[in-house]
Amino acid sequence: MNEELLLCIIVPCFNEEAVLPETIKVLTGILNSLSETGTISRKSFILFVDDGSSDKTWQLVSARAETVPSIQGLRLSRNFGHQNALIAGIETVNKEADCVITIDADLQDDARMIPAFVYKYLEGSDVVYGVRKRRDQDTFFKKNTARVFYKLMAKMGVNLVPNHADFRLLSRRAVQEFMRYQEENLFIRGIIPLLGFKSSKVYYDRQKRYAGESKYPLKKMLAFAVDGITSFSIVPIKLVMSIGFLFVLIGGAIAAYALINWFLDHTISGWTSLILSIWMIGGMQLMAIGVIGEYIGKIFTETKKRPRYTIEINTLHNKKLSEKDKFHE
Ligand code: UDP
Ligand code: MG
Repeated sequence: MNEELLLCIIVPCFNEEAVLPETIKVLTGILNSLSETGTISRKSFILFVDDGSSDKTWQLVSARAETVPSIQGLRLSRNFGHQNALIAGIETVNKEADCVITIDADLQDDARMIPAFVYKYLEGSDVVYGVRKRRDQDTFFKKNTARVFYKLMAKMGVNLVPNHADFRLLSRRAVQEFMRYQEENLFIRGIIPLLGFKSSKVYYDRQKRYAGESKYPLKKMLAFAVDGITSFSIVPIKLVMSIGFLFVLIGGAIAAYALINWFLDHTISGWTSLILSIWMIGGMQLMAIGVIGEYIGKIFTETKKRPRYTIEINTLHNKKLSEKDKFHE
């Protein structure tokens, strides 16, 4: 039916020897059934990105890659982190694949949803987000920290899809636009909604890790959140400016109070000048930092060199497309 659709499933792996055999089994099963029904091309494949593992992950992947054509591997020279492993995979296949799906190696994301992603793509979505259904078995702490995180990010001007991690499908043109974001600290989850292409969601229940341990301890998770905020938002810088301004205002009030006391002779000598200097200088310093921050904020956004726009449809271009390409538009 649709022999042309070449799907690539990208799986970042960091020390995943415990789950990998099962992951390979599950994913190849899904890929095979999709190509048997003619939904995707038989040339579709799974790309395992080994993010500098120190266990048998690469041996497992490379052994399969030699014998099974639908299994391919990419080994990074050291541990570059989850996000960079994903980017490495996406960039590697961007010329071949009509669409890519990224999924964790630990089978926490429900791989059985992959066909649903493909159908959404065939219906015209350029981006399909895997969204975790509200999980009732989640601890109170986990549920609420996550909620606060999404709220905070929204306040900072970063639009995330709540409860969506890195289980998603990207069409070829979404990948190509994504690759125009050349910034070093690429917070993928925050960039994808910026593309603006037609998107849809697939809901799933997040499972327990099939085997092995989480590679995201609390420390890494916090660092990830801070990274997300600081690579998107200059709200914290603006906050310094506002606080500085507030301090100058409070300083003014306290100055008036101190001066009145001085006139009324209610003060011991030295107090008035001391309290005045503390508040005035403190406030002015904070404001000065805020002003510098404003400039740094500008430098911050400039250095990212983000694309200024993304084209959805261009009739000039469309006329030049061949029939085959038109199908994917
Ligand atoms: N991962 C990676 N590099 C890292 C850390 C993690 O490629 O430095 C991979 C890991 O193998 C897994 C995915 O990223 O496929 C998500 O990690 P994990 O399941 O440990 O995170 P959690 O689900 O606990 O948040
Ligand atoms: Mg996991």
